[in-house]
Amino acid sequence: MEKLSLTIGWLYPELMSTYGDRGNIQVLSKKCVWSNIKVKILPIDHNTSINELKNIDLLFGGGSQDIQQEIVMRDLRGKGLVIKELIERNIPALFVCGSPQIMGKYYEPAEGKKIEGLGVFDMTTLNPGLTKPRCIGNIIAEVELDGTDGTDSPKTIIIGFENHGGRTYLGKTAKPFAKVTHGFGNNGEDGTEGIIYKNAIGCYFHGPLLPKNPEIANYLLKKALSVKYNREIGLRYNSDDILSIKAKQIISSRYID
Ligand code: GLN
Repeated sequence: MEKLSLTIGWLYPELMSTYGDRGNIQVLSKKCVWSNIKVKILPIDHNTSINELKNIDLLFGGGSQDIQQEIVMRDLRGKGLVIKELIERNIPALFVCGSPQIMGKYYEPAEGKKIEGLGVFDMTTLNPGLTKPRCIGNIIAEVELDGTDGTDSPKTIIIGFENHGGRTYLGKTAKPFAKVTHGFGNNGEDGTEGIIYKNAIGCYFHGPLLPKNPEIANYLLKKALSVKYNREIGLRYNSDDILSIKAKQIISSRYID
């Protein structure tokens, strides 16, 4: 039987990994090793060729400050077409905070010019700077994801923390990733958190997200495997996952308003 393998693309690790978002890559990589899946992490930067990008099975982007988002876009713009093709081909992706903002239609930073985004997501983000407080704190939300095995219902509680100035507003065709039960989420007004389009997730969850919420890690890996091998491939939860899920239940119960 052929050994399963996955290539995980990681957007600009040197510029976009605020608040430990690189921990998400560690979880995806370890879960592959534990499941006997050969994994290659492809750091994406100005040296990465279009051909290398085309072979990605799962894409990840972390958070960053406004300056780094502007720097990243100088190179990412030239990769926009192939990234949109990956998403349209149902390749799964997880973008956290600063990276979904530039995957949207535009990100207007607190200072400087508006940053035109790749338009993967039907959303816009405006950072009001010092005129409004940053959205900082613990965040809890409810997601409904098909195929999150190990849960007795597709409804899953996720926890993490957020730290962003940007306020994101979803377009008419957009579907929120989650519903906020505690915290700000996209804008602190409409109760939405993040966005999901095909198998691409954008969210404001730092933490990092995946060690605290193994259901999302399994969801992404299962989607990557089913797209690549054109069949459903199960992924079990290990003892660490069960511990994380238990811890999450305790933490989230403290915040039920
Ligand atoms: N610079 C963006 C903002 O302030 C994203 C911040 C982040 O990635 N944590 O909204």
